[in-house]
Amino acid sequence: MTVTRFAPSPNGPLHLGHAYSAIVAHDLAREAHDPGADDPGAEAGGRFLLRIEDIDGARSRPELAEEFRRDLEWLGLEWEETPAQSARLADYARAAERLRSDGLLYACSCTRAEIAEHAASIGPEGPVYGGRCRREGPVEGRPVAWRLDVAKAMAEAMERTGPLTWTDALTGEQAARPDLLGDVVLVRKDEPASYHLAATLDDAADGVTLVTRGQDLFNASHVHRLLQALLGLPEPRWHHHPLLLDASGTKLAKRRNSPSLADRRERGEDGRLLAAQLRLQRLPAGISLGSP
Ligand code: GLU
Repeated sequence: MTVTRFAPSPNGPLHLGHAYSAIVAHDLAREAHDPGADDPGAEAGGRFLLRIEDIDGARSRPELAEEFRRDLEWLGLEWEETPAQSARLADYARAAERLRSDGLLYACSCTRAEIAEHAASIGPEGPVYGGRCRREGPVEGRPVAWRLDVAKAMAEAMERTGPLTWTDALTGEQAARPDLLGDVVLVRKDEPASYHLAATLDDAADGVTLVTRGQDLFNASHVHRLLQALLGLPEPRWHHHPLLLDASGTKLAKRRNSPSLADRRERGEDGRLLAAQLRLQRLPAGISLGSP
């Protein structure tokens, strides 16, 4: 059975790009046929999950989760909701402890400015951490984040499972390249997990078989595949869909260049009609779909 999910962070209202993402995930689950089903005529029966990714500390606004549910309903989607990230902190702490005791994490006290100043390179997602705290240890008395020692972790994973690959439904098999992002943070200074650790654990716990999300998170999947190998989690497939872009080719963002779904809803726009148009890729003026 295909299980997909939509996993918004409640740090700003949803916009058209999110609607598209939720519809893609919803439809991939609903269209999926279970080859083992007794009755071949039975309705396609995948599951579409909603997960609220609410551990983004200060920026998280819990009241937005209710608005997200109203948005999805307005678009005519049906979903099952799984526990929000704030309800799973103990699981994250346990996984982090396991990686730490395997010697794959190190403490890092660097500030944002230090990370930028001593970057090893500029990767596809910004500065790649230069490894100062891996070599010298953290500065005493400062708060620490915990980073994955990606070279060591890759060597360990290769030893356990052989060369790591993963499959994107649109672009095919990928060799895992978590080194592109470098020694990513898995435990933040202010939270028991980072996005990478939390989302990977959640997808496994929720039984997600097809991780559906925008292409902007394509590179994150390299890291997630490595974490799955290290933590003995099942390997899903991925579907990174193209992003909706504004007239200047910039990705739609929560505050910048796209009215929120809540605004559209309150203006009396028909959400089901909007969903039908998005399915046909009939986009409002000035908005286009990026290439896969
Ligand atoms: N919470 C992330 C966001 O709102 C999405 C994460 C994911 O789909 O893996 O951008």
